Amino acid sequence: MSSFSTNPSNSPSPSSSSRPTDDTLWSLTAASMPTILILGGSYGGLQCASTLIKGGLPEGWRVIVVDRNDHFNHLYVFPRVSILPEYAPKAFIPITQLLPPPHLYLHSTLISLSATHATVSLPPSSQTPTTLSIPYQYLVYALGGSLPPPIDLSKSDGTKAAGLEMLKIEKKKIDSLKKGGRVLVIGGGALGIQLASDVREAWKGEREVCLLHSRERLLNRFGERMHEETKSRFDALGITYFLGERAIIPPEGFNLNCTTPKSVTTSKGNVIQCDVILMCTGQTPLSHHLIPHFNSCIDPKTKLVRVLKTTQIESGEATGETAGVDGRMFAIGDCCYQQDVVMAGYTAYNQGTVAGKNILKHISHSTPSTSASSSTTPSTPLKLDEYEWEAPAIKLTLGILNYMIQTPDDSDESIDPKQRPAKYIVGENGEEDLGVDGMWKFFGVGDVDRTE
Ligand SMILES: Cc1cc2nc3c(=O)[nH]c(=O)nc-3n(C[C@H](O)[C@H](O)[C@H](O)COP(=O)(O)OP(=O)(O)OC[C@H]3O[C@@H](n4cnc5c(N)ncnc54)[C@H](O)[C@@H]3O)c2cc1C
Repeated sequence: MSSFSTNPSNSPSPSSSSRPTDDTLWSLTAASMPTILILGGSYGGLQCASTLIKGGLPEGWRVIVVDRNDHFNHLYVFPRVSILPEYAPKAFIPITQLLPPPHLYLHSTLISLSATHATVSLPPSSQTPTTLSIPYQYLVYALGGSLPPPIDLSKSDGTKAAGLEMLKIEKKKIDSLKKGGRVLVIGGGALGIQLASDVREAWKGEREVCLLHSRERLLNRFGERMHEETKSRFDALGITYFLGERAIIPPEGFNLNCTTPKSVTTSKGNVIQCDVILMCTGQTPLSHHLIPHFNSCIDPKTKLVRVLKTTQIESGEATGETAGVDGRMFAIGDCCYQQDVVMAGYTAYNQGTVAGKNILKHISHSTPSTSASSSTTPSTPLKLDEYEWEAPAIKLTLGILNYMIQTPDDSDESIDPKQRPAKYIVGENGEEDLGVDGMWKFFGVGDVDRTE
């Protein structure tokens, strides 16, 4: 990723640009200033905003990013900091400085969306107004997906303080168990694997850890070697695992809130006794806000938003046509299906770049040029950028300092990118805080107090 940062000395400090004034809020409802509205200010949405602001957005236009969190929530480190809470303040990074006036990062929750407006609710601490209807010319839908319970902060008020409290919940439960207490992790994706190995190590083997995964292979979107290496690391740590078996969920669901002994029966009839369950399954794309007006843009099975390679929302299944007015609606990141790429921060980020560049092209194409030498006029066909397929890549922690990386081997460029082999690094020299300070620098707030 290239840096998001602007020159920090020219930027207002994060704390100085906290809540917009009521006048600013009311002005958002006015249609006078053309607006690019980005729903979701995370890996995809923020990169799109940065591309627009740094990429020559014409004067008079503004970018508004709507997000229910008041800080950037760096999800990659959530499992780690939920187990080692001393690092948790680093997982919430101030970002309002990325959108200097007339642009705005608006801490608010999307309630509904039409073809012309988005209605958002402001946090309860705001005085007036409490809801706003924001008109837009371009929309970027970047709401990602729901998160599994151990790292789901969506029920909080979106503040850093509330997020820090919620991230302590699982640790408190595991702390309260006696030596030999049993933790069952359901789900063998990256989150489940990382939590299982961190719990086993952080409690120095004094908690039994078992992982249950419905597929035969862990991390099935990645190379076989990731699966094999994870299994041998689990063996070394003393983590038991059941693969190819589903947990049979009782109609009332598991009681995830308490530490009383429970048994979980699997689809193969095994019964696993445990005290704490960490549910690490069940991410759902947050596409539902499109249903009332753009239902055909959502795949009914996966709930993913259909998009073209240009990142414009597609009007229906394989129509090749854009949704909304004049192709001005875009979707990026975990909420959409894009050429079967792995859902990841880097793919959301790169899609954000494409969406941002395309909006700039669209605007300049629709705005008659005053320069006689300009080659971009409304009569020139508009050629938009396309998001290029990316190979799966991951850094997976396997305990506090152990990790494994898979990246594509790009050394021979004559090989079709989809056919290139993967390369792997296995290491034991990781960092407890996962090098999260680098992300603060990336956002241009490397010098800011981590408790901000
Ligand atoms: C534990 C974990 C570790 C990971 N590690 C890596 C990694 O190392 N590398 C990597 O590349 N990827 C990693 N990923 C995947 C990566 O985090 C996701 O692919 C990425 O977050 C997708 O980015 P996004 O911008 O599409 O959506 P998200 O990051 O999900 O962001 C969506 C944003 O929308 C906001 N939002 C949602 N609903 C509303 C609403 N109604 N109103 C207002 N705002 C709303 C949310 O607050 C959020 O900020 C990891 C994921 C997890 C869970």
